[in-house]
Amino acid sequence: MIIAIDGPAASGKGTLGKRLAGHYGLRHLDTGLLYRAVAKALLDAGKRPDEADAAVAAARALEPATFDEAALKGPAIGEAASLVSAIPDVRAALVTFQRDFASKPPGAVVDGRDIGTVICPDADVKLFVTATPEVRASRRTAEYRGQGRDIDQATVLADIVARDARDTGRAISPLKQAADAHLLDTTNMDISTAIRAAIDIVEASRAGRGRA
Ligand code: C5P
Repeated sequence: MIIAIDGPAASGKGTLGKRLAGHYGLRHLDTGLLYRAVAKALLDAGKRPDEADAAVAAARALEPATFDEAALKGPAIGEAASLVSAIPDVRAALVTFQRDFASKPPGAVVDGRDIGTVICPDADVKLFVTATPEVRASRRTAEYRGQGRDIDQATVLADIVARDARDTGRAISPLKQAADAHLLDTTNMDISTAIRAAIDIVEASRAGRGRA
């Protein structure tokens, strides 16, 4: 089974992805880490995130098995990732890895921005997870503070709004809900309610398809 989860920054799709993968015994891929790793490679080399040739070379050289998730999750890298991810050849360089990951038995939960639309258009279940920018900013700020990062919520909100605009407005693989994706708005849900709602959607969807 392949479950595709898309949604904007800090919508909760990563947490949902991990929990759904655990629940169904599937592997999990947070595809944001791929773009973040490309961005970090550029920043570490003193390059700008919009330097296309360097970004494509970094994307081709990625070794996802060696990712240090904590080092990739900071706000500056998220911003840079949204710049590198708008470069068509960077996206092209990462397609095969994502599709191979998704299709290996027993399947996977894959989350990102274009999973249901471009990477896994035939996924068994597609979720589009969202929440208001204010709620996403408040959750993300709490997460950063929990990691000991001193950051103010207005800055996080501004970053989220800017990234939403860039991710939905870019020409290639923009963030958008696939026509056959189920919308899950977590604005008024805590994480356990959101997970229950996501499992209900997966179950209803599998029942409708004769349990894929
Ligand atoms: O999900 P996360 O916030 O870690 O993603 C970082 C950035 O990577 C996003 O803002 C987006 O620009 C990009 N991204 C993407 N396609 C994906 C996953 C992430 O363009 N499938």
